Amino acid sequence: MNMTDSIAIDGPAGAGKSTIAKMVARELDMIYVDTGAMYRAVAVWTCDEGIVPEDECAVSEKLDKVDVTISYHDGQQRVLLNGDDVTDRLRDEETGRRASLVSKHSCVRKKLVDLQQKLAREARVIMDGRDIGTKVLPDAILKIFLTASPEVRADRRFAELKEKGIDCEYDKILADIKERDRSDETRKVSPLKPADDSVILDSSDMTQDEVAGQIIKLYRSR
Ligand code: C5P
Repeated sequence: MNMTDSIAIDGPAGAGKSTIAKMVARELDMIYVDTGAMYRAVAVWTCDEGIVPEDECAVSEKLDKVDVTISYHDGQQRVLLNGDDVTDRLRDEETGRRASLVSKHSCVRKKLVDLQQKLAREARVIMDGRDIGTKVLPDAILKIFLTASPEVRADRRFAELKEKGIDCEYDKILADIKERDRSDETRKVSPLKPADDSVILDSSDMTQDEVAGQIIKLYRSR
């Protein structure tokens, strides 16, 4: 498979990357790969092993014992951690915070980037994350940097949690989003930034259909 046929979507937490990527994947018959889920799986592993996520030595010492595998059931991505399906443990706020910490370590990034590139060699993918256009798929036919203001992203997250009946505070969500942006943008290895040849889409005042439609149009015009 030619990796240049793929689409890279990068952007900060809560910009709507996964929802949009799934919509585009359905329309263009591509495989959606959520790379954040892989960093979240490593975060779950540190939690289960009692490893402090900031401790690069402790993480790298045991990392070769971690096996992250991606499989698909009914078109949905499942993440296996050493053979166990941990997909349902990945989405909470604490795991997101931990994922942001473990993703700073180059040993973790190397392991997961190798896995992501392998997936992109096997299928036509639309992959979302923070370094897809800059590092994982530098030759992707289309690179999108999807963003929205921190306040809009916090509003969306707040509504999503309320909808699920989860008790939450808006100010805390906004503070977490800003902290995650800071952590992802300032890390030494593969910081979050648009690739030079990416199209920047600010979704603050756009509907999901409009954003997905624009990406599909751009892809078809390439
Ligand atoms: O996208 P998601 O919020 O699930 O990602 C969780 C964390 O994993 C991010 O805050 C980021 O630190 C890290 N990540 C990364 N590179 C990627 C995908 C996610 O560093 N390609």
